[in-house]
Amino acid sequence: MLPLQVEEPILSFSGEKAFEYIKKLAVDIGSRPSGTDAERKSAEWILSEFKRLRLDSRIEEFDAFTGSVKAKRLEVLEPYRAEIPCEVMPLSGSTDPNGVTGGILHLDSYDEEYITADVEGRIIITSGQPANRDRAFAQLKKYRPAGMIIIESTPRAMAKNLWGSPTFRKKYVDIPMVRVTFEDGVKLVKSGVKSMRLIAVTEEKTIRTQNVVAEIRGTLRPEEIIVVGGHYDTVLEVSGAGDNAGGTAIMLELARVFKERGSKRTMRFVAWGCEELGLLGSREYAKRLRETSEAAKKADEEATTELDNTVLCLNLDVHGGLIGTNSAKVLGPPELTAAVKLLSKEKGVVFSVSEAVYSSDGTPLSAVGVPSVSLSRDTPSNLLMHSREDEEKWLSPEALRIHGVFAEEFLRRYVAEAAAWPFERTIPEKQKKEIEEYFKKAGRKLP
Ligand SMILES: [Zn+2]
Repeated sequence: MLPLQVEEPILSFSGEKAFEYIKKLAVDIGSRPSGTDAERKSAEWILSEFKRLRLDSRIEEFDAFTGSVKAKRLEVLEPYRAEIPCEVMPLSGSTDPNGVTGGILHLDSYDEEYITADVEGRIIITSGQPANRDRAFAQLKKYRPAGMIIIESTPRAMAKNLWGSPTFRKKYVDIPMVRVTFEDGVKLVKSGVKSMRLIAVTEEKTIRTQNVVAEIRGTLRPEEIIVVGGHYDTVLEVSGAGDNAGGTAIMLELARVFKERGSKRTMRFVAWGCEELGLLGSREYAKRLRETSEAAKKADEEATTELDNTVLCLNLDVHGGLIGTNSAKVLGPPELTAAVKLLSKEKGVVFSVSEAVYSSDGTPLSAVGVPSVSLSRDTPSNLLMHSREDEEKWLSPEALRIHGVFAEEFLRRYVAEAAAWPFERTIPEKQKKEIEEYFKKAGRKLP
């Protein structure tokens, strides 16, 4: 444990205060997957926190498609009997309550030539990701395996909890998919397992969910809006302390700081919903901005819209890991990247700064033309992310301070105090293509 800060002036970012927020979300509430009571409770708690800070705040609802797991069990039937722990991907496929039984095929490769009529009716054991998902899954659709067991790629790591994807399933095939640890994968293959039973009963539903939004209105340039965001939802069964109670906590603490200090420009703080389901909260937000803007411009070509005035999104996703490295991914003009680099050197914070797509809520905003900076604290090999190990015990107030203080200084200079907005509101052509490519690859529509 690192020594605590002795005294922190109330006007600046406190890692301790941010850490309290993490405890509330990840320990008191715990796992908060979209469509559950816990998710709604988190949103209400964030709203109450915004209100306690005397911020103008609201809940913005939208519909989303999600799933839940009703039953799961993975059993070896031959040549011995055993039960293997697994995590079900709720938006893959579903078995009936009795499950499916099938001969086992250990598939080393997702290459088309290896996916043949052999897979039909069998349970596939595999690892990794296919290089070309579209082709691999088109092939799987053709031959319809009974189920898929995906082995984690790292020893001593828990199996990941992932949602799967409704678009993907609709487009290809609804194969029930489960994930097992690396060790269990080795055990299964080594023991020459011949047949297994897989029970993975999942249920799909459309839910009403929400982003939680709060605002500090700018004193001199209220029309200029900077979005500061972090998602509060998790995957199933995972407390999501780092991903992303950590980012939500930093966002809340920044809201407290700037409520005290004030800002020339409008700061809009958003706790995004449904990030883990495919960036749905930020996508909805970006889509509404774009649609309202288009409608306004249809009526008056000269109109300057809220979208035009939204000049930056600062997004926080995955934070607080005591052991870790810092990264900033920028989508926007070169001077924005330069500013992040300069500030990191000035503050003595080691950041890996790059111009790249980060798979999180800044990207849908950049897809509609808003530059974004995504800050994250990366833990080695992403070991904790999306697994039950993503707990508060690996995090620390000191690590939260690294990004908190950096974000605070960035926002103070350029948003709260700058005489003129220093960054062009533009996304370079090359990055636009990368963003499109990202959405296409993920099987998601652009906002
Ligand atoms: Zn996340």
